[in-house]
Amino acid sequence: SLSLLYKLKKLDKAQTTPVAGATPKHNDRIALIRGDITTLRVDAIVNAANKSLLGGGGVDGAIHRAAGRALKDECRELGGCETGNSKITDAYNLPCKKVIHTVGPIYDDVHPERSEAALRGCYRSSLELAVEHGLKTIAFSGISTGIYGYPSLDACRVACDTVKTFLDKNEEKLDKVIFVTFEVKDVRSYDSTLPLYFPPD
Ligand code: ADP
Repeated sequence: SLSLLYKLKKLDKAQTTPVAGATPKHNDRIALIRGDITTLRVDAIVNAANKSLLGGGGVDGAIHRAAGRALKDECRELGGCETGNSKITDAYNLPCKKVIHTVGPIYDDVHPERSEAALRGCYRSSLELAVEHGLKTIAFSGISTGIYGYPSLDACRVACDTVKTFLDKNEEKLDKVIFVTFEVKDVRSYDSTLPLYFPPD
């Protein structure tokens, strides 16, 4: 639940050295939690979907199970989605209001820059959809960091950088961006990286 929101201000001093150009102004808009994204009572959760949008394993399977059959019925009407892009649906039996389905890249270690561009597209297009639909709180699962094999720390940096760039340009349009971690490797990545992009006051 949202009571689990992990206030960045509580992070160790040692982890909070700001990087050049970082500003504290978005602190209160960013949160990190570890847990099951399907339980969150936020405006939008972001699903790490595949191009078919018809459900899969990992977080995608968990979201479809919790939402119920009607989600798949709506997804079937969408005709899939390109890698790096996102589509929005209702949330059915989930406690959130909407589900944003984004298609992360399958990590390509020969062309990591292609994977990075696609992953940026996932975060940017999801944030844009949220704003377009008047959604103020958005929770991201770790896009591509599961079965799709994107290295955790690299994916985390792309997520933080893309969100920070978006918030810089869209100051008042979102109240809260929540990064939802599940596995220990991703918790570690966010613990060390978030303060660099969103340093405490
Ligand atoms: P991808 O195919 O994009 O890699 P996965 O679903 O395999 O997608 O993994 C995406 C992320 O979702 C991983 O970091 C995984 O640990 C996490 N995850 C799996 N189940 C859940 C859940 N119920 N809530 C939140 N995150 C989850």
